[in-house]
Amino acid sequence: MDKLLEYKDIWILAQQKEGRLERISFELITRGRELADQRGCRLCAMLFGGDITDDELHRLGRCGLDLAAVCRDERLKDFNVEPYARVMDVVISKYRPEVIIAGATSTGRTLMPYAAIKANTGLTADCTGLAIDPESGGLHQTRPAIGGNIMATIKTPAHRPQMATVRPHSTKPAQPAQKSKMLIEDILPEDQWFTTGVEYLGFESSGDQVSLADSDRVVVVGRGIKKADNLPMIYELADALDAAVGATRDVVDRGWLSYPHQIGLSGITISPKLYIGIGVSGAIQHLAGMQTAETIIAINSDPEAQIFKIADFGIVGDLFEVVPALTQQIRSGGVVD
Ligand SMILES: Cc1cc2nc3c(=O)[nH]c(=O)nc-3n(C[C@H](O)[C@H](O)[C@H](O)COP(=O)(O)OP(=O)(O)OC[C@H]3O[C@@H](n4cnc5c(N)ncnc54)[C@H](O)[C@@H]3O)c2cc1C
Repeated sequence: MDKLLEYKDIWILAQQKEGRLERISFELITRGRELADQRGCRLCAMLFGGDITDDELHRLGRCGLDLAAVCRDERLKDFNVEPYARVMDVVISKYRPEVIIAGATSTGRTLMPYAAIKANTGLTADCTGLAIDPESGGLHQTRPAIGGNIMATIKTPAHRPQMATVRPHSTKPAQPAQKSKMLIEDILPEDQWFTTGVEYLGFESSGDQVSLADSDRVVVVGRGIKKADNLPMIYELADALDAAVGATRDVVDRGWLSYPHQIGLSGITISPKLYIGIGVSGAIQHLAGMQTAETIIAINSDPEAQIFKIADFGIVGDLFEVVPALTQQIRSGGVVD
């Protein structure tokens, strides 16, 4: 058990693209800062990439990061799991992080299991909640389990680091609030880290998902809409609000909207300023993808619908009456802020 005491500090896996830090890095700082404060330790980041300037790195420092261990080499410019895992292994051996959290991005989802196996430890993917146990100091990793029917809290009592991923957009990114006092330590690359059987061809992302996940306002349609022919009224409301349109799984399974619109456990996670759920019941698997929205408005004819339990504003009524009236009101009332 004493070996566990050698491990310290909360670490995040920061990510970059073309030398620019990605949003997920700042979301992880928000998550990591809470944990570091609870644990009373430093918040550190590891970052691998090509040409990353110190100025760019200090954006992390201005958000309160204490240390960045960075490996800069042109061969790390694009993600490749084998070299990345070797560098991560070096970081783990050198710094012995007590906790490592990463985004459940394509990089995090690929690298973290690989690195966890190398480090002979566990990994909890897609956590919705992370907290430090005040008694043991261990990491409580909470995520939906058994088809999303329960929330399970998972611990890693006998191995270190404790490793977890969290969905992108499941929290707000940290904002720069101070002068950077962050220490930058370079990990010097070694040629043998770069042998790989993987050839990088390119990266293609689904534009749809990105715009929905990045939208400040999202109008989400559920099965209450009854059929695809009724969707134009949802788009009209979204248009009046300058919002993106999302959907529940029931709507996607019925083919009324495509999968990139799906929000929830098996879809994407969003954290907009405004979420409007229309004819959405509020099943736990749906809530897993939107409950961190700043303001939640629900329109549902059933006053007992689960969604009202987490809504800031609820409208009990027939969506076929409420939605056109709302759209008209917004259009006649001018800009919504
Ligand atoms: C492993 C697993 C993963 C899942 N992943 C997801 C996921 O990622 N995302 C997701 O959304 N679901 C997911 N689900 C499905 C989830 O359990 C629910 O079945 C789904 O979210 C329900 O969608 P809904 O709210 O559109 O439909 P319903 O639950 O059928 O709700 C329809 C709502 O519309 C209301 N309504 C009906 N008519 C009107 C009207 N005229 N005016 C106003 N309101 C009306 C009803 O009162 C009702 O509350 C998953 C399930 C499992 C088992």
